[in-house]
Order: sequence, then C-alpha cells, then structure tokens
Amino acid sequence: MSKEKLGLNTICTHIGEIKDEQFKGAVSPIYMSTSYQFEDVEVKRYPRYFNTPNQEYLSKKIAALEQAEAAMIFGSGMAAISTTFLAFVKTGDHIIIQNPLYGGTSNFIREELPKYGIEFTFTEGYQISDFENAIQPNTKLIHIETPSNPLLTITDIRAVASLAKSNNIITTIDNTFASPVIQNPIDLGIDIVIHSATKYLGGHSDILAGAVAASEEHINKIWHAGKNLGGSLSDFMVWMLERSMKTLGLRVKAQSKNAKKLAKFLKKHPDVKHVYYPGLKDHPEHELATSQMKSYGAMMSFEFKKDIDASKFLKSLELIKSSMSLAGVESTMLIPALTSHSLLSQEERDSLGISHGLIRFSVGIESKRDLINDIEQAIELAK
Ligand SMILES: *Cc1c(COP(=O)(O)O)cnc(C)c1O
Repeated sequence: MSKEKLGLNTICTHIGEIKDEQFKGAVSPIYMSTSYQFEDVEVKRYPRYFNTPNQEYLSKKIAALEQAEAAMIFGSGMAAISTTFLAFVKTGDHIIIQNPLYGGTSNFIREELPKYGIEFTFTEGYQISDFENAIQPNTKLIHIETPSNPLLTITDIRAVASLAKSNNIITTIDNTFASPVIQNPIDLGIDIVIHSATKYLGGHSDILAGAVAASEEHINKIWHAGKNLGGSLSDFMVWMLERSMKTLGLRVKAQSKNAKKLAKFLKKHPDVKHVYYPGLKDHPEHELATSQMKSYGAMMSFEFKKDIDASKFLKSLELIKSSMSLAGVESTMLIPALTSHSLLSQEERDSLGISHGLIRFSVGIESKRDLINDIEQAIELAK
C-alpha cells in the first residue's frame, strides 16, 4: 500500500487486525490466554500488563485514530482517567481540573485524591484566564473536557496546550464526547487523550471500557502505573470493542448529522427555551468549535419553557430511551440534575447552569423524522 495516511474508515476497519494465519478467517482471532510461554522478551504477556495480542493490536487502532504514537485499553473510562492521573502526580503535587466536567471524574478527584495528599483546583470557568489563574508552582497536570458534559461548553484546546507547555505542565483531555472521528487533540498540542470507550468507541451500549492515547514516553509511564493499579480489559471485551470500532466513523458521522438537524428543530420549537449545541450559530463558542472539531458531535442539552415538565416529557417518550449513558446507536435522554450530576450540591449545579429542567440528549442513528415525531408527541403529553 502507498505511504499516504489511510482514511478514517479504513483505519476503523483494518488497523490493528490480527491476521488469522492458521485458518485464514476474516476477523481477528481472540486470544483468551492468561498465560504465555516465556520468551526472550523484556515483559512477558499477561492481560494485566496490557500486552496480550488482542490488547496490543487494538491499541494500534486507537493510536492511529488519535494520531498518537501509542495507546492503552482499560476496563473502564474511569480506570483510564484514574490511572493516568496517578501515573503523573504524587503527594504534594497540584492538578488543575476544568469545570464543568463529567461527574464521575469530579467524584474521583474530590473523594480519592485528598487521601494521597494531591492538591487540586477546579477552575472557575473554562476560559484560558481561568486556567492561568489556577496555576501554582507545584502544578503538574491540567485536565480538560471539551465538549463538556452536560452543557457542551467548548474549551480552547490549543490555548490550554500552549499555556501548559510554557509552564512545563502535562495536559490531559477527556475526548469522549467528541470521539476521535471529530476531534484529535494531539494535533492541537495536548499530551494525553482519554476516552470512555463505553461511549462512542463501543457505540452499542454493551461494552464498558476506556482508552488512553499519547506519546510512547507518556504511555510507558501510564503503563507502569496501570499494571500496579490493575485496570486492564478482558480480551473478550477487547475483541468486542474491535468489532464495534469498525463502524465508528460511519456511526459518529451519521449521529452528528442527525444531531445538527435535531438541534435546529428543537431551537425553532415554540416550547423550547434553550438548546446547548456547539453546531448552532448562537452557541457562545461556535467559532472555536469550528476551528478545533471536524463536526459538532451528537450530544446536546436543552431546556423547555416553564409550562412543560421535563420528567413527564421523558416518561412520555416512546422511541427515545430515558436512560443512563450515552453515545449508543440508539437515542437517549436524561436529566443530569437527577442522574450524572446528582452528587453535586444544588449550589454547585446552579453555578454551573445545570437546572432541574435541563435534558441531555444523546442522538442516535434512527431516522430523523421518527425522532422528531417522538419528541413532538411527548411534548404534547407533558403539557
Ligand atoms: C462515561 C464517561 C466517563 C467514565 O467512563 P466509564 O466508562 O463509565 O468509566 C468519563 N468521561 C466522560 C465524558 C464520560 O461520558
């Protein structure tokens, strides 16, 4: 093949396949062994060492998608996040965490890091000055999330990366909401990209997994912490993830296309007060989103005007599922104040703008007309 970089869908389909030399089957065989013969190699193969054949090969697909030198696959998104943080910080160090962000990450930081004597600051907001203001002499890591959960705020990736570089600080990004299909933060200067592979990489609401992509040097550090912390993914699930990722490009593009249309529909709807979607021209960071994303993704949030009850609306939906999690091929909605962000205090939610009526919408691949019909009938019932 030519040296030219392979296209997105070719990478999704083929990079990281294991050739079935024995039977010439069309797909990668699964190697479930937890024990491999000693060879003259530095590190023997063992699933907790992230180096079984399936783990090693699928990592190549994730690295290729994120334009990274290397990648690792974890048992969950939180295993990927916690292992990465603990690989780079120790007692007495300080990390900066963007506000707003995924509730589970914020719980991990608040509940676990104090036990290790690791200091942290949640930023006031997501502007570059908010990060600048939070830097201390012992700051070792800045973590951002863009688009963020649940309000789809957009952080300037290039600006944060360059601020961190000039202060010798490592940068990590939670790229889950965008997926590698529409945002490649390493190209914009970020050091380490983290995914909850439970979401778009898996895409069918049946896999719990995580991934990290970075330079060989950084992955090596994360690997050393990872084998001690024990958050690797079983080979069967690795194989499932490989199968799912073959359609990643197709799925995410179809979902984003649907989402843009749904966002426009909701925005025009007389009962809808506000739609939070970076693809809308009135989103405060629309231009920034355009400059760092290839499209605008398939996540959005919206609020109704006063006379519509959000809980009643969710209960009245027939096609769209009201459920936890996101990014599957099926559309889902939830109320963050009652679910993903329920552990925050009312005050914290208010300061972030997460109201009780805010609905998070993960747009799937269903026909647009059916989604619109479902929303319309549920609105009528919720009046
Ligand atoms: C779901 C999610 C996580 C956590 O991933 P798990 O696979 O549930 O551990 C982290 N970040 C974001 C943005 C998520 O949506």
